[in-house]
Amino acid sequence: MHIDYDVTVVGAGTSGVISAIQAARAGAKTLLIEKTGQPGGTATSGGVDFPGLFHAWGRQVIAGIGWELVTRTVAEAGGVLPDFSKWETYRHWQLQIPVNAPLYTCILDEALRQTHVSVSYHTMVATVKEDADNVRLTLCGREGLSTVNTTVLIDASGDANAVELAGYKLRRNSEIQPCTPMIRVGGYDPATLDEKAIEAVFHKAMATGRLTRLDTGMSGSIITFLRNHGSNCIHVRAEEDPASSSGRSRMEQDARAAVLRLYRFLRSCSGLSELQLEYIAPECGILEGATIAG
Ligand SMILES: Cc1cc2nc3c(=O)[nH]c(=O)nc-3n(C[C@H](O)[C@H](O)[C@H](O)COP(=O)(O)OP(=O)(O)OC[C@H]3O[C@@H](n4cnc5c(N)ncnc54)[C@H](O)[C@@H]3O)c2cc1C
Repeated sequence: MHIDYDVTVVGAGTSGVISAIQAARAGAKTLLIEKTGQPGGTATSGGVDFPGLFHAWGRQVIAGIGWELVTRTVAEAGGVLPDFSKWETYRHWQLQIPVNAPLYTCILDEALRQTHVSVSYHTMVATVKEDADNVRLTLCGREGLSTVNTTVLIDASGDANAVELAGYKLRRNSEIQPCTPMIRVGGYDPATLDEKAIEAVFHKAMATGRLTRLDTGMSGSIITFLRNHGSNCIHVRAEEDPASSSGRSRMEQDARAAVLRLYRFLRSCSGLSELQLEYIAPECGILEGATIAG
């Protein structure tokens, strides 16, 4: 198969979906390639379903297609937007917008269809070659390899994957922020827990090495974790480059090992024997992969 496009976007996360819709609205024949089976990237596959920050000091500073899609999702879910004028009362993260992630994926796909973006899920880029007037890509899909010629290539992979395949240099920091598997635990009522007793066994578990410092993230508090039912709480140090498949595989397994460690510990605590692991994001959230040098 060999098809030509005006614009090809690699990665259907927030930036890729918006770039593809904008390109198609401007009349470009547009292809969007995504390695998973759904759009949204970190906001959906990574479970970070609370986009921000469209406002600063009470004033909207970001609008456009992202705002359109997020507010449409909130409206269709029957939700309300935070009161952005209360920026002096609330911390910035308290004014992020919770979206219903499954609905958000459907709305993103609807918008991609309405704008006639050609979407290729379950597809990755294998090679990128530039010549004078266009870029030639080899894609790897379930059918095998195919080639695409495109005038413009937009790398929205989050890790500059396509840019690196094109031969450009990337920069990787020697130390990067830890990664986060987003989770939700349930099956208990935080109001009925004996927090002091749980804290005591938690500190013992940390002291004996049963749990590690990052297992309850930045707060380091098991009580915050339980009151929030999990969420953005567990952090995992990346031992290898998380922009590579091998580094990412190691990180995903380390993340699930941390989840299991915490789950087993919690179920052994008083009042938590019925605790359930209700959700773990299909992909670990990465805050810092690679950036383009120069
Ligand atoms: C734990 C955590 C907490 C965060 N908290 C917040 C917050 O509170 N508020 C906020 O606004 N932002 C937050 N962020 C940041 C925000 O989630 C990201 O900035 C945003 O999602 C990045 O969007 P993106 O489209 O650039 O990349 P991504 O969302 O990562 O999308 C990249 C897409 O490309 C695909 N892809 C990657 N490589 C390839 C390839 N080679 N071929 C094909 N497809 C590929 C991926 O599957 C993915 O779908 C947080 C991030 C994390 C990890």
